[in-house]
Amino acid sequence: MSALVPPALLPDDSAADVVTPVDGPTFATLGLPAPLERAVADLGFVTPSAIQSQAVPALLAGRDIVGVAQTGTGKTAAFGLPLLAAVDAGTAGVQAIVLTPTRELAMQVADAITSFATHLPGLAVVAVYGGSPFLPQQRAIARGAQVVVGTPGRVLDHLDRGTLVLDQVRYLVLDEADEMLRMGFAEDVDRVLASTPDRRQVALFSATMPAPIRRVAEQHLHQPVEITVARQSSTVTTVRQTYAVVPYRHKIGALGRVLAVTDADATIVFVRTRGAAEEVGSALVERGISAAHISGDVAQSDREKIVDRLRSGALDVLVATDVAARGLDVERIGLVVNFDVPREAETYVHRIGRTGRAGREGVALSFVTPAEQSRLRTIERTTRVTLEQVPIPTPAEVSAHRVALLLGRTPARAELGRLDVYREAVAAHLAAHPGTDPIELLAAVTALAVGDEGPTPRDGDDLDDALERARLTPGRHERVGGDDRPPRERRRAETHIAGGPPRWRVAVGHRDGLQPGALVGALTGEGGLTGKDVGKIDIFGSFALVDIPGGLSADVVDRLSRTRVAGRPLRIRVDTGPRPGHGASRPSHGPQRGRH
Ligand code: AMP
Repeated sequence: MSALVPPALLPDDSAADVVTPVDGPTFATLGLPAPLERAVADLGFVTPSAIQSQAVPALLAGRDIVGVAQTGTGKTAAFGLPLLAAVDAGTAGVQAIVLTPTRELAMQVADAITSFATHLPGLAVVAVYGGSPFLPQQRAIARGAQVVVGTPGRVLDHLDRGTLVLDQVRYLVLDEADEMLRMGFAEDVDRVLASTPDRRQVALFSATMPAPIRRVAEQHLHQPVEITVARQSSTVTTVRQTYAVVPYRHKIGALGRVLAVTDADATIVFVRTRGAAEEVGSALVERGISAAHISGDVAQSDREKIVDRLRSGALDVLVATDVAARGLDVERIGLVVNFDVPREAETYVHRIGRTGRAGREGVALSFVTPAEQSRLRTIERTTRVTLEQVPIPTPAEVSAHRVALLLGRTPARAELGRLDVYREAVAAHLAAHPGTDPIELLAAVTALAVGDEGPTPRDGDDLDDALERARLTPGRHERVGGDDRPPRERRRAETHIAGGPPRWRVAVGHRDGLQPGALVGALTGEGGLTGKDVGKIDIFGSFALVDIPGGLSADVVDRLSRTRVAGRPLRIRVDTGPRPGHGASRPSHGPQRGRH
């Protein structure tokens, strides 16, 4: 199975080239209101992309637009920023609506618009899509959300039930219009459009412009400005794309093994959240790997220092969030590990583009939990590349690799000479222990030099069994981070995670001055637990993990989530992340641990 990426799918540089930079305009010249300019700066956008520099002024001037642009061109900001400029955050009620073909895109667009609205107090965005209960969506609309992002079917359902009214809508976006028509939403889209006032502004985005889309534009848009942007293609590069099925809780162990046998000079490990960056980075350091992490929490100047260390070879592994790794260009990176499968194919393509640079060969390895396999298929469909499944190295392979490296260095060492003292010592040892097999002796010396105990039949049992089970029984077991299910459902899922007591994560850590006693106090005081219910506590920078073997009921979770400790709400939830220190020796610089 070949897994080489067609060059055209790889961005050649950074997010700034995913979104085709253009000369001239800056965000300051686009005419955006100050709070939106600030939000864009916060997000680290410096230069508007081609679609942004053309669409934003036209939309701010009140024009309708037809944008022929794909994901990755920066189209979400191109329509999302003017959308927010058109909405009055001080007035409750739906003023703007974005229709998207899929639930994933709806969530993604809602998240993006929410991030653009950081400095617009009072502004609320709600995502509405099928397969999810009506009531929370209905409540969010009733609370006065000004922006609705949704799939046509669910939007219509809300319209039919009277839980969504669009007669105050001033701004409407059809995102990925070709996809919506292809999925059979033409009639639904027409009905939604017909429920909005005639004088609303419309932005239609589509990757292609077939006749049916032209007809929609002619029928519903008023003298639209047409903007077409192509995605920039890339430098020629080759990345071998692979994946391995790894249950979530074994990802750290699997990563340790992968890093132990990789031939890559440097590796970048992508994670989704800041918390995961810190956890995975610390867990690797605990295992003696030369690793560091960068995320939005790490100051820009520190990030630059860390990247310089990676470039110079002082650091081998960088754990990073997508945002923090933007623009990262380090030739030494021979391996990209996706600790999780990204939600968007675009992010995936961007991540793996960090390797295979400057004409070198690179490898990308994605860890996929059994439950995430459908996400992988989506990426394969979008990128039109079949990923190659690879096994995680076994402990024996890790040892063999270390030995091979060590023995590979022996000719050079022999060349250096000055071995007399060793030769004499070995001869004396053999004389003193007649019958010693020299190979046996050399094997023991090698094991000591390699520094591991060598695989035993029991070694890695847990991890290897789990890897084998996961590989053979796709679609079972677990579900991964970013968990948006209600607490009760999460608790049920938790019981499926094999072994170990339930661990809970609270959003308060060292940074907030959290002490174990304060956490226990909150759990026993507000949560009604006894001291005995609370197990081990590990405190990290921005969060802490706590074992509560007996679990928590949904209402206790709810109450505790709002409880403030060290000035911040606990936001307690089941920890679905990696377990730092899992199978590793105690760190000297790791998390602070407490027992109760
Ligand atoms: P989109 O095409 O809207 O899905 O955006 C693709 C990616 O580019 C997203 O991760 C955006 O956050 C990012 N992005 C959008 N506009 C810019 C910009 N002007 N500069 C840098 N990154 C951007």
